[in-house]
Amino acid sequence: MFFEDYCFSRFMDDLKYYSKRAVKKLTDIKTIECTAVALAACSVVLAFGLIFTSKEEVGNGQGGFETPGYPAVTDSQVEVEAVNTDEYVSGISYQSYRVRRGDMIGIIAENFGITEDTIISVNNIRSSRLLQIGTYLKIPSIPGILYTVKSDSETTESISKKYEIDNAKLCAVNRLDSDASLKAGSMLFLPEAKLDRVTRQEINGDLFKKPIHARWYLSSRFGWRSSPFTGARSYHSGVDMACSPGTNIFAAMPGVVTSTGYNNVYGNYVIVSHHGGYKTLYGHMSAITTKPGRVVSFDSVIGKVGSTGMSTGPHLHFTVFKNGKQVNPQNLWN
Ligand SMILES: [Zn+2]
Repeated sequence: MFFEDYCFSRFMDDLKYYSKRAVKKLTDIKTIECTAVALAACSVVLAFGLIFTSKEEVGNGQGGFETPGYPAVTDSQVEVEAVNTDEYVSGISYQSYRVRRGDMIGIIAENFGITEDTIISVNNIRSSRLLQIGTYLKIPSIPGILYTVKSDSETTESISKKYEIDNAKLCAVNRLDSDASLKAGSMLFLPEAKLDRVTRQEINGDLFKKPIHARWYLSSRFGWRSSPFTGARSYHSGVDMACSPGTNIFAAMPGVVTSTGYNNVYGNYVIVSHHGGYKTLYGHMSAITTKPGRVVSFDSVIGKVGSTGMSTGPHLHFTVFKNGKQVNPQNLWN
């Protein structure tokens, strides 16, 4: 007897046996069934409720996350959580604000009578493009930025001068005497101060210009990928911009050319140093049209697109270093 047949005959026997008992149990089963139906109905209602709620939170095209179970509010409602309002930190009061769909730093700042720089600085926001829905922002009662004292020799006077702010206000907000000595690493709130240009451009993502001004496409992103040579998982330290051979390559930011040469991996390459701790590397060039020591601007051509070194076709490999660490170029240009 095949296993299936055995199973089937046994199933039939069992069915006969249990059907007798089943009559007795029918009433009980009916009750169970009713309960089950009721439960099922409840779960359907619940499921619809969940779908409806999640619909509200997903599909806004902006990404970000919503805290599950958070009560829904209309867009017109300004949601201010009066947390820590009584807590005075260095003479400033803080409240928190939960980021909503469609929020922009500029609008939030305006609503609270502060500046974009204030929100960016106090919340240590690295990119104004990545304001996540559901995150809480600290909102200080006055506009200004946070500042970390760089060395013991700094004074409130020197900092006020650098940021073009009132020294008396700085001292008052931070509860310092005007001749107070400052310790490197300590934090100050600089009332009415603005972020410096480089920091602001980094956050806005417009510090760099794309080094290719002609048509190109992104043939490989920054980050982990499978190697085009070995297929193995490898880290791609820049972006690959594929375009016609011979296309002009421009400096991505003003600076000074620090080195040029040939390398087995990057082929003909150029490295440029910039302000703000930045360096850029341009690889696989068919020709280098600059020299070390040369001052370059946004419209300086430094080379031509090629396929020298380890390359599968004509493209520019472009790496950005910030204080020696590779960063994603796509976060730094528009
Ligand atoms: Zn590359």
